[in-house]
Amino acid sequence: MGGPEVERLIGLFARLPGFGPRSARRAVLRLLQAPEQRMRPLAEALADAARAVRPCRICGNLDSQDPCAICADPARDRSSICVVESVADVWALERAHVHDGLYHVLGGTLSPISGIGPEELNADALLRRVGTGEVKEVIIALAATVDGQSTTHWLTEHLRPLGVAVTRLAHGVPIGGALDVMDDGTLAAALKARRPM
Ligand SMILES: [Zn+2]
Repeated sequence: MGGPEVERLIGLFARLPGFGPRSARRAVLRLLQAPEQRMRPLAEALADAARAVRPCRICGNLDSQDPCAICADPARDRSSICVVESVADVWALERAHVHDGLYHVLGGTLSPISGIGPEELNADALLRRVGTGEVKEVIIALAATVDGQSTTHWLTEHLRPLGVAVTRLAHGVPIGGALDVMDDGTLAAALKARRPM
């Protein structure tokens, strides 16, 4: 239906989070029914974002400026770095307005089963950042999964010798997955009740 162009589009939409084959078909149909009002602006916005947005060379956040707007903001507390698994976590914490320091995106968690070691993560860059002396606290905000916990442990062992305070989000707070799915209040509580490692 609709030809190979439409099938390709539906296939691409269906791979996005929140979409399945049905909703992908519905979304594509909506676009096709108003090509000038809906489809062309979307195509241009996608092309612009693909061209402009890059990972921040300092923290790994995605932004159209590098360093990102957070790293470049002189009002942020540069003595505190919050370590997260993904960019989605940075955006969740920013939405909740609970952290006024900087971030560091690891890009995953250690996972021996999947063959993900420290080299596969953005971990060395974190240790280098902390080694510059400006940083006083590193808040580890990783999920309370097995991999998240072993990553927290690895980071703590490597950060402590650098002379910084290492804290983690409070236990007992239901962090079973990405911070992205937590509501703002829960996120704020988890951060406020952080504990030293
Ligand atoms: Zn940044």
